[in-house]
Amino acid sequence: MHEGVVIAGAGYAAGELAARLGASGAAGPVTMIGDEAHLPYHRPPLSKVFLSGEADAASLLLRPESAYEKFGVVHRAHTRVTRIDRAARHVTLSDGDTLPYRWLVLATGGRARLLNCEGADLAGVFTLRGIDDSVALRAAMLAGRNLVIVGGGYIGLEVAAVAVKSGMAVTLIEAAPRVLARVAGPEISTFYEQVHRDAGVVIHTGLTVTALLPQPGDPSRVGEVVLGDGTTIAADAVVAGVGLIPNTELAAEAGLHVDNGIWVDEYCRTEDPQVLAIGDCANHPCPFLGRRVRLESVPNALEQARVAADTMAGKLVPYAAVPWFWSDQYDLKLQAVGLADGYENAVLRGSYAARSFLLFYLRDGIVLAADAVNRPGEFLVARRLVGAAVRADAAALGDATIPLKSLIPVAA
Ligand SMILES: Cc1cc2nc3c(=O)[nH]c(=O)nc-3n(C[C@H](O)[C@H](O)[C@H](O)COP(=O)(O)OP(=O)(O)OC[C@H]3O[C@@H](n4cnc5c(N)ncnc54)[C@H](O)[C@@H]3O)c2cc1C
Repeated sequence: MHEGVVIAGAGYAAGELAARLGASGAAGPVTMIGDEAHLPYHRPPLSKVFLSGEADAASLLLRPESAYEKFGVVHRAHTRVTRIDRAARHVTLSDGDTLPYRWLVLATGGRARLLNCEGADLAGVFTLRGIDDSVALRAAMLAGRNLVIVGGGYIGLEVAAVAVKSGMAVTLIEAAPRVLARVAGPEISTFYEQVHRDAGVVIHTGLTVTALLPQPGDPSRVGEVVLGDGTTIAADAVVAGVGLIPNTELAAEAGLHVDNGIWVDEYCRTEDPQVLAIGDCANHPCPFLGRRVRLESVPNALEQARVAADTMAGKLVPYAAVPWFWSDQYDLKLQAVGLADGYENAVLRGSYAARSFLLFYLRDGIVLAADAVNRPGEFLVARRLVGAAVRADAAALGDATIPLKSLIPVAA
């Protein structure tokens, strides 16, 4: 019997897809297989309000259990999909069951990259991907203790903000010359480095971690971090925020094309039209960027769940979203849209000192990308400017007395 949908993974993209499919009933019964203990949940709070203790686990759920029950979605927790038989169209599960499918959706996300140095497996070294990781890290965040964060990306900086507010002595090590180097322009990096330093975080850029050494009294527990220049930093805990490895092994073993993610077309289909992939694990053609990309963001997971649901319902609607992302640190909400690669000039609207601004990245007068800090209303307009590749007057963009909306051409 080959009917219904099996979703491998029960994270953000899976939860959204299961709800959409369940609500429409268009693709038959839906089974969601997840190796975690939990129903699909919001991961962003794990480095923000959940880590700080301001939000509890119940508030993380995307939807209550009753919502899936209402849609007839079956969720199997603590269970892995271990093998795909594409010829027979069934999957094997870690509990030995096999499940037939008409559609198989790979929504397997990714896992945190581990540090690749001596001592990386010592107790007190943390990564942050799931609820359990955040709970464990929170327990180690004791006022007065030393926390060393390796990696100055969004997750490392968000953890730094929570930890320094909780009274820890925080040092952040970034191998690149500036924090957020992979995702933001130098102006944003400078702004965030200053914000963190003002809050008391010590930041070292351009330095790598070469070893983690144990405490003299406890050889199983981290006590010191050794940097590439030979200096050492005392550490009661270490957080590795050094990126994500997409979970693609299942797809690769099934003979599907994998290269920085599972390759899909604009309808989220792999080269096997009955097998789709969505979310952090999927590498898709992005018309806005004009190239393939694998994105790690909630908006992308939601958009791909929408596209995949349409595909299975027989409506081929291509992925057309403009990539965007957010990050919360201290009292700052950063929202970023587009990709600033190759920009010629950056135009500031608002003020760094007031911690409220937009930075537009332009090439040939066209708005390629924008970063907004504490400007959620104008960010919505910025998304439209970037999405429509509007040619805008730099002086007008930078003049906060001119409504941003007025820069959107009538047809856009
Ligand atoms: C700490 C943190 C903070 C973040 N902050 C932000 C933010 O501020 N803004 C933003 O846009 N994004 C943020 N993200 C990223 C965002 O959470 C991800 O992009 C999103 O969760 C991706 O959804 P997904 O369904 O593809 O993967 P996931 O949510 O990771 O779900 C995949 C699930 O599949 C499971 N799985 C894997 N293999 C198998 C298998 N073989 N069988 C069964 N189950 C399997 C995994 O264990 C996991 O539960 C953050 C992520 C983290 C970790």
